[in-house]
Amino acid sequence: MRIDTAALRLTLGYLLLAGLWICLSDQLLATLGLSVELQERLQSFKGLLFVVLTSALLYLVLHRHAQQFRTARLQLASNEERLRLALDATRDGLWDWDVSKRRIFFSEGYAKLLGLTPQTLGDTREDWAARLHPDDQEHALHALNAELHDQSYENIYRLRHADGSYRWIHSRGRLLRDEKGQPQRFIGIASDITQQRAIDDSLRQAAAVFDATQEGVLVTDAKQCIVHVNPAFSRITGYSSEEILGRRPTVLKSGRHDADFYQSLWQALKNRGAWSGEVWNRRKSGEIYPQWQCIRVIRDEQGRISHYVAVFSDITALKRSQRELDYLAHHDPLSNLPNRLLFTERVAHALERSKIEESCGAVLLIDLDHFKHINESLGHNVGDLLLKSVGERLQLDLPSGCTLARLGGDEFGLLSEDCAEAAQAAEMAQRLLRSLEAPFLLEGHELYIGASIGISLFPEDADSVEQILRNADSALFKAKSSGREGYAFYVQELTDYARQRVELASSLRQALDHQELRVYYQPLHDLQDGRLVGTEALVRWQHPQRGLIPPSEFIPIAEDNGMIGVIDAWVLEQACQQMVRWNAEEHSLRFVAVNVSSRLFSRGDLAQKVASVLAETGLPPEQLELEVTESAIMEDPDAALKILTSLRALGVRLAIDDFGTGYSSLARLKRLPVDKLKLDQSFVRGLPDAPEDAAIARAVIALGKTLGLKVLAEGIEQRAQADFLRELGCNYGQGYHFGHPQPVDTGDSTTPGGTGTTNPTSDAERGRSS
Ligand code: C2E
Ligand code: MG
Ligand code: MG
Repeated sequence: MRIDTAALRLTLGYLLLAGLWICLSDQLLATLGLSVELQERLQSFKGLLFVVLTSALLYLVLHRHAQQFRTARLQLASNEERLRLALDATRDGLWDWDVSKRRIFFSEGYAKLLGLTPQTLGDTREDWAARLHPDDQEHALHALNAELHDQSYENIYRLRHADGSYRWIHSRGRLLRDEKGQPQRFIGIASDITQQRAIDDSLRQAAAVFDATQEGVLVTDAKQCIVHVNPAFSRITGYSSEEILGRRPTVLKSGRHDADFYQSLWQALKNRGAWSGEVWNRRKSGEIYPQWQCIRVIRDEQGRISHYVAVFSDITALKRSQRELDYLAHHDPLSNLPNRLLFTERVAHALERSKIEESCGAVLLIDLDHFKHINESLGHNVGDLLLKSVGERLQLDLPSGCTLARLGGDEFGLLSEDCAEAAQAAEMAQRLLRSLEAPFLLEGHELYIGASIGISLFPEDADSVEQILRNADSALFKAKSSGREGYAFYVQELTDYARQRVELASSLRQALDHQELRVYYQPLHDLQDGRLVGTEALVRWQHPQRGLIPPSEFIPIAEDNGMIGVIDAWVLEQACQQMVRWNAEEHSLRFVAVNVSSRLFSRGDLAQKVASVLAETGLPPEQLELEVTESAIMEDPDAALKILTSLRALGVRLAIDDFGTGYSSLARLKRLPVDKLKLDQSFVRGLPDAPEDAAIARAVIALGKTLGLKVLAEGIEQRAQADFLRELGCNYGQGYHFGHPQPVDTGDSTTPGGTGTTNPTSDAERGRSS
């Protein structure tokens, strides 16, 4: 037990005083020599006085002590209140661990951090540890144990809140020891730092983003002094943060933007607090580059501007690829010439200009002739090289104001923005055709290529881009059909023709189903004895509105849309069936001739088709003659040889139609397994007077003789022509002189090319009279 020195001193003082009082007062009474009775009375009085005095003294001492105790208690209460208020204000909690009693006092504030009361929180270390987050348990307890050897303590961990969530707690404390140095109390405060941690986390993330982002970031203060930049900023601009901090963003100015630009930027920042757009800036190296930039105004709590943040990306590469994409979108990769898109844009622009300036221009569509054959025979590689070289040739000495484009495939377009007269355009077309005359030397091949050109003038022929191009296309078609390697101008009739073609094409599809096709037969005569020997089947289309349409109008359409196969097969069947009927009627007719389209001729299954029709109808093969035009054979002579050979093997006869128009090579002709040449009617027309026609007729007949082929002359309209040809030794004749193509009258006895009469001569008479 500790001895209170103040109390001891007081007690000893009292003991001394009381002792002195007893001894001295008794001595004094003895020296006074008073009577025993008086002495006894005085003794009693002295005793009473002592009691009174010591009582007064006791009272004084107790009173003072009580006063001191009250003051101390008041002070303690006020201290406690102050501490509680301070803890409440900081929302901190107090903990006080009595080490010896193994109890922890948790203040109300502490319990409140976890949504609890001190009672529900408990007062043992185990109660507390049970609330620790499993991930934090080990390190939190370890830190606590370490603290028992140390003085000050600080720890961060998570505790489970009453609502089940975990709160981050920051705990600081101090260990108090007794005189012997043994841990006695461990006391401290704890605060909830969950929110702070979330802020710290997002700040850390923001900082990482700031550093790692590919976008340059620049922060200035309100006075536009740069206070912060990120690594990307330095990478893009070339300025390190040391070089740029404290300076103004104007050091980056390129000088490309005028005052208005910056004014509208600042206006946007003022009104909307943000601006974004493309800016050209200057790098440290002096290079000017484009960047996409967003600027934002940052305001403080009072709404005053505190900072500006600019985030930007270098769009040099983007711009470059945009330019490249733009180039790709508008140019043909093979020839590097403008493509259809750019060409159309330029035509639109030129048309616009021509209307304003009252000027004229021309569009020329240039299509290579027989380019397909080069691709097919020499491969696409050579084809591509040729297209490239053609582009280069065409481009040579082009007048200024011209755009040459490759519109696709083997089609090129030329726009001349200054072409006052048609003659000028014609001259240009001729020049282009001439430029292709010289051969192209490609990969060891010497190649010749011609072209056809369609010309449309504007604004004369058309007032829209589509119309200009459509017109040029019609003109090109005309150029192609009037013999290749030429040019043609657009005229209104061409469009009408094209429209008709489109209409015909769509109704042609139903023509067969609706039984609108007819086969007419034209007689073929032996010129020497005048006898009818055969007949040619010629197709017609009995159109419900337009009447009888000749094959020259719809056969090319059928060849384009692929219907020619069905049509020719149908005609072949009809002709063979008819021939079988004539045979049954015992006509003297020896054969029927059927035309074969050049399109079918280039397909392999022709012989098979013919064989099956012959088998189905039962017509002897030698009674069928197939006519193939000379140009069809000459388009691909090697393939023609194969097909003709296989047809010949069936036993059918073969004739070359329109002979003289297709530039046959005599060497090739010699090898073809044909029986007959049909001299084209264009050479018969001028007979017997035109010397050139006479010369050609003579030559073809002589050629036929030499090669052992029969010769038939087409288009004989006059007796004089027939006589002349007979004298030249021509074997057969066909024409209006002998008879027009006629349908077979099914109701009655029929003759080829005649109606209801068995006498072929009467047809010839009719032909003559027409
Ligand atoms: P092509 O085979 O040369 O037929 C002769 C053409 O000359 C026929 O025209 C005939 O009517 C016409 N013609 C006959 N004699 C005379 C005459 O004295 N004077 C004149 N000016 N012309 C005469 P069409 O029937 O209009 O046939 C034209 C072309 O259409 C034919 O020429 C032939 O190439 C083709 N064609 C006709 N029918 C068919 C067919 O069924 N299939 C195929 N693929 N083509 C056919
Ligand atoms: Mg024919
Ligand atoms: Mg013919």
